Order: sequence, then C-alpha cells, then structure tokens
Amino acid sequence: MKKAVFPGSFDPITLGHVDIINRAMPLFDELIISIGINDTKNYRFSLEERVAFIKKTFSHIPNIKIKTYSGLTTEFCREIKADFILRGLRNPADFEFEKAIAITNRKLTGIDTVFLLTSADTAFISSSIVRDILKHNGDVSKFVPVAVNKSL
Ligand code: ADP
Repeated sequence: MKKAVFPGSFDPITLGHVDIINRAMPLFDELIISIGINDTKNYRFSLEERVAFIKKTFSHIPNIKIKTYSGLTTEFCREIKADFILRGLRNPADFEFEKAIAITNRKLTGIDTVFLLTSADTAFISSSIVRDILKHNGDVSKFVPVAVNKSL
C-alpha cells in the first residue's frame, strides 16, 4: 500500500493544488493532504476553513484523506506511516527550495519526495496571488475550486 503525504499551507487550496492532487492519484493508494500548522505564520483562512475547502473539493474520492499537523513533516510521515512526500514544482525557484528540503528529509528519515511538474494552465497560480486578489475584492473564480469561491 503506497501512502503519500501532500503537505502545504493550502491558504487557500487552488486549482494548482487540485491539478497536482488529481494527477498524483494514479501513483498512490492513499493520499493524505496535510495542512502544516505554523504558529509564526499569519493565515488568511482559518485552519477549519482550509480543511473544509479541501474536504468539499475531494469528498467524492475515498482514498484522499485530510489531516493537520505541527512540527516536522518527516515526523508526521513517520507517525502515519507514509512512504512518500508529494510536492508540486512551478519554476526554478520552487526547484531550488524543494531540492534542499527533499535531500534533507531523505537524509533524516529515508523518505523520498515525488515531484510533479505543474500543468501549463495552472503554472501561474499560487495561494499568495489569490490572497492578494481577495484583499482587493477581486474575482478568483478562475483560480480556486468551487468550494472556495462559494464561501467568499
Ligand atoms: P507551502 O507553504 O508548503 O509551499 P502551499 O500550499 O503554497 O504550501 O503549496 C503546497 C504545494 O503545492 C507545494 O509543493 C507547491 O509547490 C505546490 N503548488 C502550489 N501551487 C501550485 C501550482 N500552481 N502548480 C503546481 N504546484 C503547486
């Protein structure tokens, strides 16, 4: 049974995340979308809201689970016996950042990170751009799943 963790802030989940998740499903038996809690970060959406958006978006897929965690992602993976970490790559900056973390994580625990390259039509989407648009009351319907857009 291949179990992967997709860690992130998901503040909020976007169509970029959704694309990576859908494309990862054939690779794993179970995918745990895992919201990392970082007390030093200021989030736009509460943890409950972020969980609810993901639940609503993927309620029809039984082998997608949602969890929250604090502390090291590798520790969390060990606790829930996940074999892989899933991450998305959009650009060279993502690659450089992710490379160091993935190598460190593998050295720490042996857990490997599987990277999927963003799709051409979602490459430009990021939660931070969505938050910026929202700050100015703009329309984000093209960038987020229906569950997020409906709640705004
Ligand atoms: P974090 O704070 O951990 O980067 P995010 O919620 O911003 O959390 O991102 C979680 C994961 O989703 C990261 O691997 C990120 O690269 C990936 N991701 C975010 N947006 C996109 C996108 N448009 N295309 C592909 N991957 C993406």
